Amino acid sequence: MKSKFSHVLMLLGAVLAFVPIIAVDYLLDAYVQYREKAEAQRYVESISSHINSSAMDGVAALRQVIAASPSLCTATFVTNAQEAIEGGLNLKQFLVENLDGVQYCDAYGRVVDYSPLSQPLPVPGLTETMAVVKLGEMDMPALKLSQTFGETRRVSTFVPLLGQSESALNDTLPDAAMMRVTLTNGLSIVTLGDPTGFDRRQSSADYISAQGYAGQFPIKVEYALPFAMARSGYADLDVAFTFIACLASAVFLILNLSYVRRSRVPAFDLERAIERNEIKPYYQPVINLRTGELVGCEVLCRWEKRNGQVIPPGAFIDYAEVTGLAIPMTVSLMQQVRNDLGDLSRTLPNMKISINLFEGHFRDVGIVEDVQAIFGQSPISFRQLVFEITERRPLTNSMTTTSVISGLHALGARLAMDDAGTGHSNLAYLATLGVDVIKIDRIFVDMIKPGTTQVPVLDGLIAMAKDLDCEIVAEGVETEEQALYLRSRGVLHAQGYIFAPALKVGAFKELALALNSASNPQPRLEVVASAAA
Ligand code: MN
Repeated sequence: MKSKFSHVLMLLGAVLAFVPIIAVDYLLDAYVQYREKAEAQRYVESISSHINSSAMDGVAALRQVIAASPSLCTATFVTNAQEAIEGGLNLKQFLVENLDGVQYCDAYGRVVDYSPLSQPLPVPGLTETMAVVKLGEMDMPALKLSQTFGETRRVSTFVPLLGQSESALNDTLPDAAMMRVTLTNGLSIVTLGDPTGFDRRQSSADYISAQGYAGQFPIKVEYALPFAMARSGYADLDVAFTFIACLASAVFLILNLSYVRRSRVPAFDLERAIERNEIKPYYQPVINLRTGELVGCEVLCRWEKRNGQVIPPGAFIDYAEVTGLAIPMTVSLMQQVRNDLGDLSRTLPNMKISINLFEGHFRDVGIVEDVQAIFGQSPISFRQLVFEITERRPLTNSMTTTSVISGLHALGARLAMDDAGTGHSNLAYLATLGVDVIKIDRIFVDMIKPGTTQVPVLDGLIAMAKDLDCEIVAEGVETEEQALYLRSRGVLHAQGYIFAPALKVGAFKELALALNSASNPQPRLEVVASAAA
């Protein structure tokens, strides 16, 4: 379960690692939107504030000229008007006319050539009115700002809407962009570029747009740029963003992998666990069914993590075997067994110690050297050692297999066939391997139910083992019936829960001493050994 969870995590992490790359487009879009929107707003602001300030300049000049002139169309008035035009940047003309548009006088003594493009409009907050007009030959419309004088007359000044000509303004616009000045009643005054796309847009995301007003004047300024055009200006940044995103993805992937590596998934830190001796030997007693004495033990293992968690071998043994970690793991276990059971072996020199080997051990003669190096100078003698090999995965009958077995035999150790009866072995196979002990698998022992008088398969297995002159150990003995049945069939040694589970070294030693020191153990064990032989 745990490792499945970690695989899901790893997969999720790998998918997440590509999010930056996928997100590049999205991020860049958002960035372009943000940058260009601000740019558009600035542009609109500059146009609308220009209109506002020139219109306000016109209003101020108009008021000043009227205030400084006791009556209209006098020499003083004309002088004041001319001075105002020369002193202002944007003023073009002053004009006095009646309410029907009949001209009385102007700053230069000629007819003012203009035509209205809009009705005069009130300006909120001002007494002046505003109209859009075409003035003379100017291609850019002008604003006519007017103040009524008395009952019948009107004084006006003219200011161009924008300081530049239409073509000069057009040059400042990006390709495909649109800029439009309209009255707030909808009348269009100036349009640069083509506004039809913008007016028919499907979604506001298609355009980058901004709008603003010329102060209190009823004039609206709009600007719009198709998003795709704006985005195309960021091609270089696209490359840079993608590059950064790839880097981010790579970093994320590496972090993810190292997280998984460091996480407490058994598969990933078994190697370190072995180095730290976290794989601990546990000892399951093997009992003499006739005397009740302890004749030996099988070394099993548990992974004792530093956090106190204890993992049974089922969770990591297969992984250990597949990865080859079974070999250093067995070395570590044997070293710990030597340290654990050295003292006990001085007291019980005939105690057998059974160690499980893997198929991989029989493909490399190194195991013989390891056994020799570890137990050579220890109180545990080679003849106490039994090496178990499972029948579930048959050994190849190769030169190396044979030399490992004969090497172990030469030291004085013995070989046991583990899980006997469950594999595909036959008499010939067992005979060629040179097996000394047969460990009958628990499934055959389980066949002994209360009241059973005969278990043909088990009986056959026992008979076969005797024929081969092998010692027999029954595994998984859990009930008294089973123990009695086995004893009645001449099986002398057994292990299982009825006697003890796999024990930590302390508990195992106590049990071993309790079972064997009551009377003088030596002669009795000798009896057991000869009976088994
Ligand atoms: Mn075993």
